[in-house]
Amino acid sequence: MSTLRFKALETLPFKDFRRDNSIDVPAKLSELFCQNVFSEQTMREYLTKEAFQSIMDAIKKGTKIQRHIADQVAVAMKDWAMSKGVTHYTHWFQPLTGSTAEKHDSFFTPIEGGRAIERFSGGMLIQQEPDASSFPNGGIRNTFEARGYTAWDPTSPAFIMGTTLCIPSIFISYTGETLDYKAPLLRALNAVDEAATNVMQYFDKNVTKVTPTLGWEQEYFLVDSALYQSRPDLVLTGKTLLGHSPAKGQQLDDHYFGSIPTRVMNFMKELEIECMKLGIPVTTRHNEVAPNQFELAPMFEEVNVAVDHNSLLMDIMARVAHKHHFHILFHEKPFAGVNGSGKHNNWSLATDTGENLLSPGKNPKKNLQFLTFFVNTIKAVHEYADLLRASIASASNDHRLGANEAPPAIISVFIGSQLFRVLEELEKVTNGKLSPEEKTELKLNVVGKIPEILLDNTDRNRTSPFAFTGNKFEIRAVGSSANCAESMTVMNTIAAKQLNDFKKEVDALIEKGLKKDEAIFNVLREYIKQCKNIMFEGDGYSDDWAKEAKKRGLNNLKTTPEALKQEMDKKFLALYEEMGIFTHREVEARNEIKLEKYSTVIDIEARVLSDIARNHIIPSALNYQNRLIENVKGLKEIFGDKEFKTLAKEQMSLIANISENVSKIKVSVEDLLKARATAKAVSSSQKQAEDYCNKVKPLFDVIRDASDDLEMMVDDELWPMTKYREMLFTR
Ligand code: ADP
Ligand code: MG
Repeated sequence: MSTLRFKALETLPFKDFRRDNSIDVPAKLSELFCQNVFSEQTMREYLTKEAFQSIMDAIKKGTKIQRHIADQVAVAMKDWAMSKGVTHYTHWFQPLTGSTAEKHDSFFTPIEGGRAIERFSGGMLIQQEPDASSFPNGGIRNTFEARGYTAWDPTSPAFIMGTTLCIPSIFISYTGETLDYKAPLLRALNAVDEAATNVMQYFDKNVTKVTPTLGWEQEYFLVDSALYQSRPDLVLTGKTLLGHSPAKGQQLDDHYFGSIPTRVMNFMKELEIECMKLGIPVTTRHNEVAPNQFELAPMFEEVNVAVDHNSLLMDIMARVAHKHHFHILFHEKPFAGVNGSGKHNNWSLATDTGENLLSPGKNPKKNLQFLTFFVNTIKAVHEYADLLRASIASASNDHRLGANEAPPAIISVFIGSQLFRVLEELEKVTNGKLSPEEKTELKLNVVGKIPEILLDNTDRNRTSPFAFTGNKFEIRAVGSSANCAESMTVMNTIAAKQLNDFKKEVDALIEKGLKKDEAIFNVLREYIKQCKNIMFEGDGYSDDWAKEAKKRGLNNLKTTPEALKQEMDKKFLALYEEMGIFTHREVEARNEIKLEKYSTVIDIEARVLSDIARNHIIPSALNYQNRLIENVKGLKEIFGDKEFKTLAKEQMSLIANISENVSKIKVSVEDLLKARATAKAVSSSQKQAEDYCNKVKPLFDVIRDASDDLEMMVDDELWPMTKYREMLFTR
């Protein structure tokens, strides 16, 4: 019993320190809220009226902050942070690596005469130059060129982590190209604000700002850290590459409805305390479908802050898990045969007059407003479905999308049968001017009935990648490990573009003499007709849907290389250019980074799998086979030639079976390494990713199947890899 697996298992049994990490939660969590955030409340306290107003204007109107104001803000931030024991500051940003980045600098500054002070100026607050030559840039920022810099984003509040003041920032190159997730997101948010505010002038002239909102739901797995350490595949790739599914999986659903295990509860409690202090308004926690899978969701927030909070949360989760001897897995599919993890992105639009634009109103006028934003959202997804698909593409998310798991890779929209019927009614609206009777009919029986419909609209479809859920749309296809900024950038860009187009079309009809409402009905009618093929109410997992979708002309981009190829479509490049989100070069660079990342991930998985298969699985199988051979030899010695053949029949068949699987593994690993070397040498990123996808990856399954068969044959005591049941049922 010398293997890592048994050492890890030995540390478990139920040593009390793992369970006794109990957490005292203050009676009022609300008192902790925003304790470590340079929040509006704190700013009021620490800033002059002028400085406070200037920050508020920057947040609400996007105005620039003057240098002398930035100096004041910096001093205030420093004073506040130092009162909480902070010694360093960092620009906190989200490069395209997928995690957050920070470079800590000290407030401490030596001055003449052997003295020193704590210093933090406006210049240091506004801009910093991280040593960033190693962040991915898709060729934009040549390492020889000037480096990129980070710039303060005043619309997301600064916060304290440990003894560091973190300043949310964007990351751009000196030539102005965006190098992170956040800069394009901010552009998209501005675009949709402007577009939606313009459209709102038809309904309510008091609206001067529209803010997109995001409420994410984060799914994750927890694995005991000793067991995690014993699995080289988990450590190196974030997922298990091998492992037979346990006899008991999620069939009983007992985990979902069960109580949260004590040790996990302690983790969650501590996590919630940390979230509260950082102003992340987490409200729900519960078990998920799979064993050891959980979910956490906050109250929705303005998109930019929500995105920052999700990135921050993922960071904190990993740290807090560590304290509770857990390792957190954000991978979309860490265990084969077990439900994977996603990150639902609930999205809506809110006005500065306090309205949710995707929430039906109390009167026909409000409902026409609702229908306008509702139908335009569907139209946006209809026009740019492939772009949305590309925004959630990654090697790890491929295990969910299009792989017999929620949701399918085909982008469709679910709105529920009753709303679908409303749209069908609207499709019948007369072309051009409407008669008074038709207007009344529409008001009373079509538009007027919407709130009632929604109240008893209980049919919820869990298989749709994009679903309307009463007062928001839910993008369900986002991966659990993704930065939501990417899908949110696309969502808000396409909504903005669509609303702009809508405004133009309605204005044109008004120009031609139609009344405003008539014009709106006319344009919506055409949209509904055009979008019908993307609306789907049935079972998204079924084969029938794949066939039906094909007939409807919807794409089924099952793999990342396929999805990323679409991203370079002229239509999408033009969209980004028109909306001022990305230049052609930026899209190309990002596309290349994603392709390279895909290839790298598959390449690492190939190497890790080859290593485990050859150096762990085959030797263990042969070891056990030798035991069987000894046994057969012994039987022969004792019983003689004739009798032993009957007695050793099963052992001999096992011996042969082991040999077959061993040789299958050996041959496939050789093929895999060859395929990998060939793929690695391909120079086009697109072609290379396709090779990894179509020629390298399929061999994983062959090796895995043979290894999982061996796992069922080999003596448990000799099996080197920690088993699924051990990882999934240890809590
Ligand atoms: P579930 O999808 O699990 O059934 P709910 O429908 O109750 O859960 O809500 C899920 C998420 O939707 C929550 O995280 C919440 O913050 C978010 N949400 C609710 N309203 C909005 C909104 N107007 N904009 C964005 N997100 C919202
Ligand atoms: Mg949900």
